[in-house]
Amino acid sequence: MRAVVVEEYGVLPTVREVAEPSAADGAVVLRVEATGLCRSDWHGWMGHDSDIVLPHVPGHELAGTIAAVGAGVTGWQVGDRVTTPFICACGECEQCLEGNQQVCPNQLQPGFNYWGSFAEYVAVPFASVNLVRLPDDMDFATAAGLGCRFATSFRAVHQVGKVRAGERVAVFGCGGVGLSAVMIATALGASVVAIDTNPEALALAREYGAEHTLQASDQVAARIQDLGGAHVTVDALGSSDIVQQALSALRPRGRHVQVGLLPNGVQLEVGRLIGQELSWLGSHGMPAHAYPEMLALVASGKLRPAELITRTITLDETPTALAALSNGTPAGITVITPGSG
Ligand SMILES: [Zn+2]
Ligand SMILES: [Zn+2]
Repeated sequence: MRAVVVEEYGVLPTVREVAEPSAADGAVVLRVEATGLCRSDWHGWMGHDSDIVLPHVPGHELAGTIAAVGAGVTGWQVGDRVTTPFICACGECEQCLEGNQQVCPNQLQPGFNYWGSFAEYVAVPFASVNLVRLPDDMDFATAAGLGCRFATSFRAVHQVGKVRAGERVAVFGCGGVGLSAVMIATALGASVVAIDTNPEALALAREYGAEHTLQASDQVAARIQDLGGAHVTVDALGSSDIVQQALSALRPRGRHVQVGLLPNGVQLEVGRLIGQELSWLGSHGMPAHAYPEMLALVASGKLRPAELITRTITLDETPTALAALSNGTPAGITVITPGSG
């Protein structure tokens, strides 16, 4: 099969023939119909992720058709249209049995712990726990965007941030996660302030329901406090500056949700955290069993993830698009269709 292969960190990947994955016990193999290009792939390519062994195939936001079913997998057949969370949980540990598959210590992530979906085929381990059946009227490109950024945002805003109607939510960074957060918080009845450096991304944020949009600057926290302060802030990008601004933008007892990765760590002003009773919350993916609530909101038209897809590219165009993330995040979600060349 053809795949995008990272041979060396930070060096343009190649597109070449590699061996197809086989369906191990408990696993399935999918024909990849669509797969999202995400900043996490860029972090992996840059060498920020210690789990990756070279040569490596990135890709963790995937949707496809089951091509092979391993021994012990029940309820799934060749031809089924599916997606999966990027965290493939084991289904058997204490966290999984409590329903918190997103923090399973035995989790495997395609495109990180093993070869991912920037390829014609990809394996999904622990398939019975992790496969999500696609509604008939949902296309593969839309579904690919759900597995990481949209689902991650849904959990961050709804289950972790516990955003309620009437609250003010400040979303820092309007790439795929951020724009999803804008749309989801708006659907939950919140008033959204969106912040980004890119005017194009801010225009999309307005389209998806942001009431206020702010050009990123060191005045952002003061501007949000002028509006009355944020009940919830979301760092959808991952930057130390954003974390500081977000905490300064919160109302007393506000909740900050960290979604963007911070490979170099961050220093928190703990005094303010204590004195104002602020919460600093991590959010990581979303388990497969939580998808039906999100899919129902998509079916109802309240959430429109398809609108977040701004570009579709081929496998051959992927190395350049991955490398281009070094120069900033394009507005919206880019989806790769491996079947198209
Ligand atoms: Zn992702
Ligand atoms: Zn587990």
